[in-house]
Amino acid sequence: MDATPGNENGRLKDLTDSPTDDSAVGQLYLAASVFNHSPQGIMITDAEHRIRKVNPAFTQITGWTEGEVAGRRDSMLSAGRDERGLRDEMQRALDTGDLWVGEMWSRRRDGEVFPENRTVVAVRDDNGALLHYLCMFSDISAEKFAAERIHRLAHYDAITDLPNRVLLQDRLLHAINRAARAQTRLALLFLDLDGFKLINDTYGHAAGDEVLRLVGDRLSSRLRKADVVARIGGDEFAVVLSDITNDSDVQVACDQLLKLVTEPYDIDQQNYHVTTSIGVAMYPEDGTDVQELLKNADAAMYQAKANGKNRYAFYEPEMNRRAEERLLMVSQLRMALARDEFELCYQPQYDLASGELVSVEALIRWENALGEAIKPAQFIPIAEDSGLIVQIGAWALNRACLQARHWQEQGLRFGRLAVNMSGRQFQDGRLHETVMRALANSGLAGEHLELEITENWVMEGPYRAEAQMQMLHEAGISLAIDDFGVANSSMAYLKRFPVQKLKIDRSFIRDIPADADDVAIVSAIVAMGHSLGMRVVAEGVETTAQSDFLRSIGCDEAQGYLFGRPVKSDELNVLLLYNTGAPED
Ligand code: C2E
Ligand code: MG
Ligand code: MG
Repeated sequence: MDATPGNENGRLKDLTDSPTDDSAVGQLYLAASVFNHSPQGIMITDAEHRIRKVNPAFTQITGWTEGEVAGRRDSMLSAGRDERGLRDEMQRALDTGDLWVGEMWSRRRDGEVFPENRTVVAVRDDNGALLHYLCMFSDISAEKFAAERIHRLAHYDAITDLPNRVLLQDRLLHAINRAARAQTRLALLFLDLDGFKLINDTYGHAAGDEVLRLVGDRLSSRLRKADVVARIGGDEFAVVLSDITNDSDVQVACDQLLKLVTEPYDIDQQNYHVTTSIGVAMYPEDGTDVQELLKNADAAMYQAKANGKNRYAFYEPEMNRRAEERLLMVSQLRMALARDEFELCYQPQYDLASGELVSVEALIRWENALGEAIKPAQFIPIAEDSGLIVQIGAWALNRACLQARHWQEQGLRFGRLAVNMSGRQFQDGRLHETVMRALANSGLAGEHLELEITENWVMEGPYRAEAQMQMLHEAGISLAIDDFGVANSSMAYLKRFPVQKLKIDRSFIRDIPADADDVAIVSAIVAMGHSLGMRVVAEGVETTAQSDFLRSIGCDEAQGYLFGRPVKSDELNVLLLYNTGAPED
């Protein structure tokens, strides 16, 4: 054979200066060079596992020099742990064959344990007698660490350090399998915090994250070893309770969790409050696989929210049907916006003393693609829940302002135009901008606009709402609290808001003057409203007995079927014409 091209052009010159030819010496030289420069640790032992020779990489990885280990058994490097079984297995492989490859744990000179990737070759003479073991290994702790980190990132939530949704599903599957074998039951609890978004929006994400962390701690503190807590979304947690014997065990656990979450959160000398709504699905009654249990616990959670939050609900098959309807409704609402299926009706409000029409409330109407009229009570909560209310509310506001301006252009007097606002629109943070745009767009002046916000929203989001209410107030817009009386507002709160009107909820008006309790409540609300300098309006007035009574206690205004139902704008024109008498100057 010709000389290699490398030799010819001299690229291997430095090597060819050394004895790298095929002579025995050359081979030895090459072997020594590999031995000394290998990044892998190499250790050669005799047939009894006594160390004969190690290379520099061995010293670098383990910390032991050749002088320190020569003559000692290679088991000195063993990490102890549960490596004995593995070493036995390795030995068996080498007794019967020539090679063993695998991962094991070893110990460095400083005592640190590390994972290594090891190849061991049994070197035999021509007769098959064992001469040496040649062991080559590399330290794989960096890879292991990276793999563990990736595993952790993929399976644990960074904020709370709890299992995430992926790991929950895995743990739930195990729990289901265990329960199936042992013929026991388990409960999946789906928790969604109430009022968490407000903390995030108002105090920032750092406070929000801290609350989540503390909630996670509290949930974990309550649980037994076999139970699982996971954070599975923004403000959603899940708990798996194993070995349930009866429903009351779950009820007790839910009550405890509700209480734990409700305790105030003390962060940087500031107290935060959240509650949680819990949905419960039981294995095997409510589902026998992971997805079904998750879905049903979610539906039950939704029901707990709808029932008033800070409570739990057990899954019932009925809930799924409702959950599906809700989903369908959300997509229909989205289409309704695109197809302009909404309309506004208008209902007058009268001054009880003078009988004058003083304002008009815009009420949304929706006829879906099938021509069915859907009541606001049915779709507004779903629009709020899905966030669509922000767009729907903006649409209603724009339309109402244009209509009001139109009436003005016709010389019709309507006093103020009242538009219902959802608290979600306040939370959205752009309400002021939306209102200003609607006014500018229509040319309506701020003093002709009134915004109604329901009492429970005001109570839920007092901080955020306060600043925005102030800005709206400064633009001449008046504010009314709708459905007043149902949410137990505190007077202290109410005084903080620039509110000019209280609208007493219809439920208190219905049975007056016969019902003594309602008479007392309505009278108290009127007196309280007046003491705060507000006008008080009664909603849902249907009879003259009601209106007479309201007038007698000094209630300022009334709205209801007795005076006029909500009607389309052109029908209201007639009323306004009558109201207007002489054209407005
Ligand atoms: P609300 O703002 O308290 O409106 C008064 C509701 O009582 C209206 O129901 C009205 O039709 C009804 N009503 C008025 N007078 C009487 C009466 O004498 N007897 C009885 N039984 N009912 C009377 P509607 O139009 O079904 O609206 C229900 C709720 O939906 C409203 O309550 C309001 O909270 C919400 N809503 C309506 N339009 C909008 C809107 O554009 N945006 C938002 N966010 N909510 C709206
Ligand atoms: Mg209203
Ligand atoms: Mg109302």
